[in-house]
Amino acid sequence: MPTVDGDFDYIIVGGGTAGCVLADRLMADGKARVLLLEAGPRANSLWIAMPAGMGRLFVNHRYNWGFMGQPEPTLGGRELYFPQGKVLGGSSAINGMAFVRGQPEDYDGWRDQGAKGWGWGDVLPYFNELEDRARAPGRGHGGRLSVTDPRYVHGSAHAFCAAAHAAGADANPDYNGAKQEGAGLLQFTIRNGRRDSAASAYLSHARKRPNLRVLTGACATGSCSKAAGPWAWRSSKAARQGSCARPAR
Ligand SMILES: Cc1cc2nc3c(=O)[nH]c(=O)nc-3n(C[C@H](O)[C@H](O)[C@H](O)COP(=O)(O)OP(=O)(O)OC[C@H]3O[C@@H](n4cnc5c(N)ncnc54)[C@H](O)[C@@H]3O)c2cc1C
Repeated sequence: MPTVDGDFDYIIVGGGTAGCVLADRLMADGKARVLLLEAGPRANSLWIAMPAGMGRLFVNHRYNWGFMGQPEPTLGGRELYFPQGKVLGGSSAINGMAFVRGQPEDYDGWRDQGAKGWGWGDVLPYFNELEDRARAPGRGHGGRLSVTDPRYVHGSAHAFCAAAHAAGADANPDYNGAKQEGAGLLQFTIRNGRRDSAASAYLSHARKRPNLRVLTGACATGSCSKAAGPWAWRSSKAARQGSCARPAR
């Protein structure tokens, strides 16, 4: 069972996409003492670094919880597969790396339904701040997350876009720019040919600070009262029979 000594102001459970960003943000003032617990291992695998490894990670249960759903009555009783990252970087370490900001109208719709601060105008500065994208007007530069165009584009992708244009869709060279509608090529969170996960983009910066502790193989199984100790967690190994195990099929 992994142990760690020390007092912490914050304990983050889950070193996934949100957890890595949160750790970086909490460390920003240089004062907060942060412990990050991740059930999975460190992201040392070639399959994670190499964008083409994505297909392999989809079924790799060292880095992927590999959840199964319940039998679906409307699907003739079929059970659906739900991959989710179990590794530092979380699902951003196993995902398809497609970078899609989303539809401005959706954000405005959520704001109008009461999600204050989630309008497109509210979130746009954060999108611009987070990304590092070269040669793209109206986009962010110098942020933590690298957003790039594909280096190699198969001819069928160009043919698909050409067919969409012929069918009346606008050519859109940047669907993350002023408008999303149209046909164009995907953009990816890749830096210098390697996957840029939340761990590589955010945690690598935060980990240079001495007041961050990162514990992998540490699956939180519950919280304790302050009198009994701040939080409790078990190693993934010890928890294999417990609630942190991949559900047996
Ligand atoms: C196969 C796949 C492909 C995808 N493709 C894309 C894509 O191309 N583009 C895109 O934008 N999005 C994509 N997504 C979605 C995107 O990756 C996720 O929405 C996002 O990463 C979720 O972030 P999160 O922080 O909510 O969770 P996660 O990143 O999944 O992080 C949760 C973390 O918490 C850890 N954890 C869970 N329970 C415990 C516990 N008890 N104790 C300690 N640690 C725990 C997990 O191991 C995991 O590391 C994809 C997702 C998957 C699975």
